[in-house]
Amino acid sequence: MSTFPSPRPLAYVAEKLQCGGADLSELAEEYGTPLYVYAADDVTTRAALLRSEFVATAHTLCYAVKANSALAILKLLGEHGCGFDIVSGGELERVKRASPGALSKVVFSGVGKQAWEMDAALEAGILLFNVESQAELEVLSARAVALGKVARIAMRVNPDVFAETHPYISTGLSSHKFGIAIANARAIYQRAAALPGIDPAGVSVHIGSQIRSVEPFAESVKRVRRLVEELSGDGFDIRYLDAGGGFGIEYGTASSDPAQSVRDYANAIREGLANLKVHLLLEPGRFLVAQAGVLLTRVLYTKQNGDKNFVITDAAMNDLIRPALYQAHHEILPVEKHDRAEQTSDFVGPVCESADFFARDRSAPEVRAGELVAILDAGAYGISLSSHYNTRVRPAEVLVESGQVRLIRRRESMNDLLAPELF
Ligand SMILES: *Cc1c(COP(=O)(O)O)cnc(C)c1O
Repeated sequence: MSTFPSPRPLAYVAEKLQCGGADLSELAEEYGTPLYVYAADDVTTRAALLRSEFVATAHTLCYAVKANSALAILKLLGEHGCGFDIVSGGELERVKRASPGALSKVVFSGVGKQAWEMDAALEAGILLFNVESQAELEVLSARAVALGKVARIAMRVNPDVFAETHPYISTGLSSHKFGIAIANARAIYQRAAALPGIDPAGVSVHIGSQIRSVEPFAESVKRVRRLVEELSGDGFDIRYLDAGGGFGIEYGTASSDPAQSVRDYANAIREGLANLKVHLLLEPGRFLVAQAGVLLTRVLYTKQNGDKNFVITDAAMNDLIRPALYQAHHEILPVEKHDRAEQTSDFVGPVCESADFFARDRSAPEVRAGELVAILDAGAYGISLSSHYNTRVRPAEVLVESGQVRLIRRRESMNDLLAPELF
């Protein structure tokens, strides 16, 4: 019996949609729209679920901050024992502020780390640098020496494994910019061993995002394991294996049991690592936060062009760019259920781009101007990919925790937006 709740923390109560037990129409009244709403309990339940699959394995969950970098969410996950996977000095600053106790559980990924970012991470005493090139290794060595520190490193290897996902979020092929070719790894570790201030302590891999089958994870762990064994044979003390993130979710309506898919994923990784004496690092992003969040938006207008219906919402691609960027699918639900006929419509925002849509040719009960709809699974790569395009302020965010609603980011003002500009 799974203790995991349904894939989403949503329910209709008296025909009104709730998220994490909070009535979405009341939240819209109080905080305005567009509004991101997250159910904290869903995030922590997922972290616990993932952790429970690895209880017998020495491991740390390093939440990938870029999926949703809200300070309140980082604090929440830090309190639940997570470390963090960061990709910039800015994300390091977020962890420092929200969860300073977790700095010793931070891994730093990214192909273009700058000297100041390395310095900040060395001073903060992070766990591991995931180094993506020999050139970066040389700079890191120089920074560590200058600061009198030792940088624990894992080379991020590219296992040349194809993961079936959108091309923009696939990273594990040799044609991608990420990591170093696994075939060159041993030579680069030899170079690393000769550099001052560098402790080659691990190997890391990350093959992409929104990966829905376990085979690519199994295959890449198998290849990385072989490398770890070779490196150990070469005399290296490899203590960490970072298996990356990328574990996907079901964005559609197909019935899916997150507990079962976590079990399959964990099995694949555990089998690949059996009897290997390393501390496992995992970098889940999307899986922990995507389904905990909705983007709540109000319908401004409806209209017909030719034989197409359009539902125009006050949220736009600057608030949630996934459909425009990845042709991503998001389910959309009315906040108040009505007994109305189905209609096929495009759900679009006010931004001046034809790519500004949330759904195309979507069949749903008719919605009318003034009504609210919820765009589902918007907790990951939603607000974190948002922008000011069309000079639109970014949405507010609220966190619902055990029924209590808390504003975690106020809506920006036009002054916030214009403040950095000079003329
Ligand atoms: C983006 C990223 C992740 C998280 O990916 P998800 O698909 O959100 O789990 C983990 N590790 C690295 C290096 C990343 O770039």
